[in-house]
Amino acid sequence: MALLQDLIRSIADGMVEVIDLTAPLSEKTPIIQLPAPFANTRRFELTQISRYDERGPAWYWNDISTGEHVGTHFDAPIHWVTGREGKDVSQVPARQLIAPAAVIDKSQECSANPDFLLQVSDVEVWEREHGPLPEGGWLLYRTGWDARADDQRRFLNADDTGPHTPGISVECAKWLAAEAPVIGVGVETVGTDAGKAHSFDPAFPCHAFLLGAGKYGLTQLANLASLPPTGAVVIAGPLPITRGSGSPARVLALVER
Ligand code: MN
Repeated sequence: MALLQDLIRSIADGMVEVIDLTAPLSEKTPIIQLPAPFANTRRFELTQISRYDERGPAWYWNDISTGEHVGTHFDAPIHWVTGREGKDVSQVPARQLIAPAAVIDKSQECSANPDFLLQVSDVEVWEREHGPLPEGGWLLYRTGWDARADDQRRFLNADDTGPHTPGISVECAKWLAAEAPVIGVGVETVGTDAGKAHSFDPAFPCHAFLLGAGKYGLTQLANLASLPPTGAVVIAGPLPITRGSGSPARVLALVER
């Protein structure tokens, strides 16, 4: 009781800051573009039902249509074939939706090289400075890519050879899935894998290894620059879509000031 009262008081007086890690969700929200013959997701869309008019004189409301993997969203294990026997998004335990976060900043490296890949050695260097990755927590990977989120072309950064966006190496994805104590990784890009991860072995290693290990993904996060390397608490709220492979999510962080 006292603990929660302290928390509420600390939020009210600014000792605990609430940082929104969620990108705005609209028709302009960038979506992943898979090449033929693969099927693509639909965009987020609002369809008006009524707006204080003859269809509903005192009320405004909309229908929404969206892909599960649009905007800031949560990847559940069954999103990938390696996790097909795992949890759908409605089965993720609520207590795992509140978890500590480690934040690794590679925005400098990614601005010099959009194909930058996080290596196990990068995480080991981070751990020497900040301590071990949090048990049951997230590894949040800052790349600076959220600055491009208002422009689909710059966000996907594709040329004739495909998209060029930062990601995680095959070895590091395998290590995060099998060795690290985290429940998942969170990124600023359109998916947890690098733009060129279609050509990796295995393809899309973050999806293959992490979801295959029953872990999770968070994508298109914003404002990771406002988080300290350790100590933030992430509250991730995907919709409990029955049989869903993922869901748009409101993601917040609590940070002590
Ligand atoms: Mn996804």
